[in-house]
This record gives sequence, structure tokens and C-alpha cells, in this order.
Amino acid sequence: MIVYATHEGGRYLTVADSLKEKPEGQRGIYINLTNKCNCACTFCLRNMKKMAEESSLWLKEEPTVEQVKQELDDLPWDYVSEIVFCGFGEPTMRLETVVELLKYIKDTHPKIKTRLNTNGLSDLAHGRSTAGDFAGGILDTVSISLNASNAERYLELTRAKYGIESYDAMLKFAVDCKKYIPNVVLTVVEKVENQQEIDRCQKLCDERGLKLRVRIYEDN
Ligand code: SF4
Repeated sequence: MIVYATHEGGRYLTVADSLKEKPEGQRGIYINLTNKCNCACTFCLRNMKKMAEESSLWLKEEPTVEQVKQELDDLPWDYVSEIVFCGFGEPTMRLETVVELLKYIKDTHPKIKTRLNTNGLSDLAHGRSTAGDFAGGILDTVSISLNASNAERYLELTRAKYGIESYDAMLKFAVDCKKYIPNVVLTVVEKVENQQEIDRCQKLCDERGLKLRVRIYEDN
């Protein structure tokens, strides 16, 4: 699936099935652009989830910009509260595509909120500072996986391909994002870390003026 909704029990549904199951009310709609990732997190859902083929987030091939635009055009927009770039891979591996689609969404549906869920390593992936790519009001929220309070623990959990420098690069990206994105949120997964580690993450975020969200495992 390229475009999907999430339902109770960590299920991924096509938008049509989501509406059948829950005909009333607005919901977040998710965009799955790639299965590529520059991390190999120990807790990654991609390694644990079993999905029926028709509702799988494993892509046979990456969708083109035009394919995604077509799926966006076909959405029942009255039922959409937010568009989230997420999926089974790291969206910023296709940074240009994410930016182009964010612009398209804001051009066609300016009131719809947009969010990017990311590991925050796009500066390392693209060899430059990338937060400015989201300037111009195209992105309302960026949710960045903090995962840990220090570089060593972060690398142990994420096995990021850029090694120990990944953690500082992710934090720099988060701080840079504050200039361009109204809501910058860092996340840590509740079951992966203990309360002491979560407290250290909170302190680190407070020192940098960043918000921390303790995320429930499987929640997007
Ligand atoms: S960054 Fe996300 S998609 Fe990539 S390995 Fe980690 S949890 Fe999985």
C-alpha cells in the first residue's frame, strides 16, 4: 500500500477499508514512499509484523510522484485530518519527493495538517543541512526518533549506517527544524527504555527547547 490508515491493534488498512470499518469522523492518512532505510533498529516493526499481501507496507516498487499525487487526488478529503509521511522505511531517503508532495498537499488542501515521521538522519544521507527544505509552511509537524539519551545507546538501538556521529547529526537536524517547522517533536519508545533513560531524554530536550513524546510501541 502507498496510502493507508492505521486502526486499533496496529493494523494497516486501505482508505476504503478504513471507511468501511469506521464510517464517521476524520483520520490521519499515511504515505508509504520507500522501504529503504539507513538504520536497522532492533525494535523495527518491519522485522516483526506479519501482514496480508493486500494490506502490506512492503512495496513491490517505489511509487512515482505522479502515482502518489493520483492517490491523493482520489482521497475522501472530508474524512482526512492529517497527512503523515511514514511507512515501512525512512521517508527522507526520498527527500525531494517528500518536499514535492508536501507542496502539492498544501497547494491543493491548504488547511490539512502535514507531518513527517523520520529518523532525523537526512543531513547525513544527503551530505548537507536539510531542515531548510521544509521552509515555507509546507510541514506542520516533524516527529524525530530520539530513541536514547546518548550516542552509544542510540547506535546500539538504531545500528545507523553512519556510525557514532549519527546521534549528534540527528540532534542538530532537530534543532535546525525549529526555524522552519512549527511543531518539532522528539520521540522515545516507552517499552524500549526505562524511566531513568526517559528522564535523561526529557532533560536533553528541555535544554534544547524541544518537545519529547514518549511513544507507545506500534503507535505512529
Ligand atoms: S529508522 Fe524506522 S524504518 Fe528505519 S530501521 Fe529504524 S524503525 Fe525501522
